[in-house]
Amino acid sequence: AAKASGQSQFRTFDAGLRDRLQMRRDLERDLSQALAENALEVWFQPIYALDAHTLVGLEALVRWQHPRLGWIAPPDLIAAAASVGLTESLLRAILEQVCAMMQILRSRGLGTVRVAMNVSPREMAQVPVDEIVIGRLSLLDLPPAMLEIEITEETALDIGAVQGKLQALSRAGIRVALDDFGIGYSSLSSLRQLRADRIKIDRSFVTGLGTCEDKHGLVLAVLGLGRLLGLEVVAEGVESAEDLRILQAMGCPFLQGYHLGRPMPVHALENTLLIAQTEAA
Ligand code: C2E
Ligand code: MG
Ligand code: MG
Ligand code: MG
Repeated sequence: AAKASGQSQFRTFDAGLRDRLQMRRDLERDLSQALAENALEVWFQPIYALDAHTLVGLEALVRWQHPRLGWIAPPDLIAAAASVGLTESLLRAILEQVCAMMQILRSRGLGTVRVAMNVSPREMAQVPVDEIVIGRLSLLDLPPAMLEIEITEETALDIGAVQGKLQALSRAGIRVALDDFGIGYSSLSSLRQLRADRIKIDRSFVTGLGTCEDKHGLVLAVLGLGRLLGLEVVAEGVESAEDLRILQAMGCPFLQGYHLGRPMPVHALENTLLIAQTEAA
C-alpha cells in the first residue's frame, strides 16, 4: 500500500506495481466525482520581496484529500486527470479558485499582489489554456497583470506545442514564469521562446544554500542571468534563516519557502493578508 513518505504529507506511489495500478484506477474513478462536488482545494503560498516582508505574490497549489488514500501529490493528480480526459475540467476548476483569490485581493486593496498558477507543459499542449484563461479574466473583469502562469520544463518540452499559447497569454498581459529553473531541460533559448518574464530557481539549489558551494554558484549565475536579460528571479525552497540570509546578501529579488510561509488554505491566509494590508495602507 501507499505510505506517507519522508517529510511530505503526500502519499507516494512507491508501492508494488499492482498496488500502484489499483491506486491509479481509484484516483481516476474518484476524480470526476471530486470535480463535480468541488472537493478539490487550491492552497496559496506567499511570495515575498527581498525584504522577506512585503507580500508580492501567492502561488496557487492544488490540494486533494482523497477519502481513503489521503492527500494526493499534485503531479499524481495531474497525471490521473490526464489519463481520464479530465485535464481541462481540472484546469478550469483551479482557475476558478485562482480568480476568486484575485477578487479577494482586489477587494482588500491588494491588487498589486500577483497570483501564480501552475500549468504543466502537457496541459498547455492539450488544452486551449490561452483562450480559457483570457476569456475567464475578461468575463470577471480581472486585470491580466494580476495573473502569472508558471510552466515547468520537467520533460523535454515540445516548445512548438506551447509557444503560441504562451505568446498569446503574454500579449494579453499575463505574466509567464519558468518554474524549477536549473533542473531538467530549461535552457537559455527557451527563456526567450517561452516569453518568460520570470525565473523560479528550483528549490534543490536553494534549500541548504549555506552548506553547498555548487548551489551558491548556480544561484549567483541565475541572478546574474536575470539581471542581464531583465528577468525577475524568484528563489523557492527558502527553508531556513540561513538560506534567507544568503539570498538577501546575494540580492535575490523574490523569495518563497517554508521559512517565510507554507502553502495555506484560503481561510488560513487571513493573517498574511492583514499584514499586507497594513503595510499597503
Ligand atoms: P512547484 O510549482 O515548483 O511548487 C512548489 C512546490 O514546493 C510545492 O509543492 C510547495 O508546497 C513546495 N514548497 C514550497 N516551499 C517549500 C520549501 O521551503 N521546502 C520544500 N521542501 N518544499 C517547498 P506541491 O504543492 O507538492 O507541488 C508540487 C508540484 O506540483 C509543483 O511544483 C507544481 O509543479 C505541481 N503543481 C502543484 N499545483 C499544481 C496545479 O494546480 N497545476 C499543475 N499543473 N501543477 C501543479
Ligand atoms: Mg510552481
Ligand atoms: Mg518550482
Ligand atoms: Mg517543482
